[in-house]
Amino acid sequence: MSNKTHTLHAARLKNNCPTCFGTDGLEITFTQEENETPFFRKPATQIDEKLYCHTCHSIIYPVNWTEDIERVFDYNKKIAETNKQYLKVKPLFYISVVVAIVLVAAVVYILISS
Ligand SMILES: [Zn+2]
Repeated sequence: MSNKTHTLHAARLKNNCPTCFGTDGLEITFTQEENETPFFRKPATQIDEKLYCHTCHSIIYPVNWTEDIERVFDYNKKIAETNKQYLKVKPLFYISVVVAIVLVAAVVYILISS
């Protein structure tokens, strides 16, 4: 099983950074983890979000967010939600379903004809 991280949505904010007060450094990123098995690609139900300031090179935690940042965050979260990854079934899954049906049919055929 392998893990992948998808970036669902990223946006540069015009808001003031609560740490360095710069207006062009903030970037918000929404990511989603995904587990991969031979049959499925199964994304995590939860979206992870990160607010990073490129000017002072620090992660801004929600406790330090201003009201303006929260408003922009909510707006961008909605965009991220629309890009959310859902369970994907791989071809191997369908192949095993077909094999199972063929096996059952073969067993039924043998039972009927014996
Ligand atoms: Zn900053």
